[in-house]
Parts: sequence; C-alpha cells; structure tokens
Amino acid sequence: MMVLEDLEVKGEEGSKMEIELKEKNENEIVFIIRDAEVPFVNAIRRIAMMEIPKIAIEDVNIVKNDSAMFDEVLAHRLGLTPLFSDAEAIEGLVFSEDCECEDYCPKCSVSFTLNKTGPGVVYSKDLSSTDSKIKSVYDTIPLLKLKDDEDVELEAVAKLGFGKDHAKWIPTTVCSYKQYPKITFNDELEVDYGCAEACPRGILKADKRSKKIKVNNIENCSMCKSCVRASENKYVDVGYEKNNFIFRLETDGSMTPEEVLLKACDVLSEKTEKFISFCKGGRT
Ligand code: SF4
Ligand SMILES: [Zn+2]
Repeated sequence: MMVLEDLEVKGEEGSKMEIELKEKNENEIVFIIRDAEVPFVNAIRRIAMMEIPKIAIEDVNIVKNDSAMFDEVLAHRLGLTPLFSDAEAIEGLVFSEDCECEDYCPKCSVSFTLNKTGPGVVYSKDLSSTDSKIKSVYDTIPLLKLKDDEDVELEAVAKLGFGKDHAKWIPTTVCSYKQYPKITFNDELEVDYGCAEACPRGILKADKRSKKIKVNNIENCSMCKSCVRASENKYVDVGYEKNNFIFRLETDGSMTPEEVLLKACDVLSEKTEKFISFCKGGRT
C-alpha cells in the first residue's frame, strides 16, 4: 500500500503536484492539491466513494419484531449502521460472490444477533457480533423503540460490498473538492467597502485605515459572488485557480480518512497499470 508521502507525483513538464494538509482529525481530513487536473482529483473522489471495500449488514432474518417499526425499515436501519471496516478488521474476509458457499459463511460474512425486551430504546451497541473486530462504530445509534413486554429477536449478516452497489457501503459521508478561490481587487478604482459587508462568511474585511479590503481565510470562500454583486463599481472579482483544489473527506467512522485515500490511490494505480499493460500489448 502507498504511504501519504508517496502522493507527491510529477505532472506535466515543469509541474509537480503538491499536497498540503490543512486539517485532520479522527474522521475528517482537509488538504490542498496544487498543480493537478480535474479528471485526476475527480477520479480520487469517485473511487473513494464507490470502490473501497466496506462491510455492512446485507441480510436480516427477523424472528420476532413486536415494535411499531416495519421489518423492512428496521433492516434498512441496520444496513446503514456503520461497522468497523478498516484493513485489520476485514482482513481475510472474501466477497460473498467469490466465496464457495451458497448463502453465507464465516469466510465471507460476519453474523450479528439482537435480542431485546422492552420497554426502552434499542441501540446499535445491543447488536452482538460473532467477530470482536467487526462491530458497530457508534454505540448510541437508536435502532427501534420497544414498549412494555415487546420483543425483538433477529440475526443480521454483514458482507463486504462497494459504494457503487449501495449507499450503505460508501465509507465517506463527505467527499468533495472545489477549485481554490481567487479574489482580486481592481486597485485603479475607488475602494468599495460595501463588498466586504456583503460577504456572508466574513472573508472580506474592510480596513479603512489602510484603505484596503483584507482577505481572511480564503479557503472558506464559497465563491457565492455576493461581494461581486454588491460592488457597483466592480471593485472586486471572484474566480478560481484552475489547477489548485481544496479536498475534504469525512468518513462514517468505519475507517480513517487516510485509509480511504490510500485505498483509492491503490485502486487508481491498479487501473492505470492495467492501461499501461494494455498499451504495451500485454495482458490486462
Ligand atoms: S464569493 Fe462569497 S464567500 Fe467569497 S468573498 Fe465573495 S461574498 Fe465572501
Ligand atoms: Zn461464504
């Protein structure tokens, strides 16, 4: 697998893609990509959402459900409950379509059971897994509500899948990029302080002492152009830098954002290798 430092690659002659980390926490990463092309950045985005293996509940055998919630709705909620799917957790698991079994087996699936009696709310932590590494990421996702003496009893089977097949296998909750904003002022015109007042994000700040408008945290500019519309003399203009991007990726907790990115790079690299091999006349 690639490491984060490997993400620096040479582009067109004289250009070298650069990545600058802006923010990072457990579930979210924001970084700036400089000197890249839209198709490349978009390929990473699409692969991160659609082609990273993740485990999610696929089949639910409901033995008893006395609650007011329909079985189908309960199954849907279980499917969308994020389960730990990092490389260590899913190591050794195969896709069910590649497995020799007929329906499901320990090689291609992980079973959960849920047995609760009301009254009370049943949470994701109540799902008991046959695999200690694969369990609900969050303990407090409400699944259903049981009244006095109502029971729920079910078995749920989690399988590997891809986001392109169902949203429950998408590991990202946010995966987007925007071109880097570019704000320019026409210094030949009189300073129009009104454009700063029109900015809903506080990006533009009027500095009457220096007779200038200052730009704060330009990466937070949504390119809404409210400032441009408010400036009668067209003092300000907002555009974007064609080859520079701000990329934001947030996961549902099933794996870290770095893991999603690294896997996306591996998938893109594999696809590219196939193309190279095809072009060289080899087998794909
Ligand atoms: S484009 Fe919108 S967010 Fe950006 S500086 Fe202008 S008003 Fe503010
Ligand atoms: Zn199997």
